[in-house]
Amino acid sequence: MKNTSLLFVLLLFASCNQAQNAKSTTAGSDTSESSRNFQKITKSDAEWKAQLTAEEYHVLREAGTERAFTGEYWDNKKEGKYVCRACGFELFDSKTKFKSGTGWPSFYEPANEYCVGEIKDTKYGWNRTEVVCARCGGHLGHVFKDGPKPTGLRYCINSISLKFVE
Ligand code: FE
Repeated sequence: MKNTSLLFVLLLFASCNQAQNAKSTTAGSDTSESSRNFQKITKSDAEWKAQLTAEEYHVLREAGTERAFTGEYWDNKKEGKYVCRACGFELFDSKTKFKSGTGWPSFYEPANEYCVGEIKDTKYGWNRTEVVCARCGGHLGHVFKDGPKPTGLRYCINSISLKFVE
């Protein structure tokens, strides 16, 4: 079982780690470039509202959920990368996408160990783990422990939180 507290600690200190990757991203740049040394992006609600459509804002900034089987990517079988729709941070790879039957794009692991953050979500009396973009904090979906091998995890993600790059 993955130790989520450890992941949190790793995420917290990710920006301090200079060892792994010499390349760095510019905060706010809309690229799919991924770097362990990323800087967090903080914007006001007004700034996010100006940048995102109403539906994107609702899911990404208010932790909304798109209706199953209505999103752009639940059935996308093309090879490529999925980046954050709000900030362009690389989040998932098509290689880890699998058919879950849920109507939402599903992956068994993130693109790397630092791109996705986890938050305990006890809304509606459920005990779930919310996943967010580690760079901009945008809501992506939830992670469940009923996924396929090799991780046994199912990252259930809103299409609207993602942008596919072939
Ligand atoms: Fe983001």
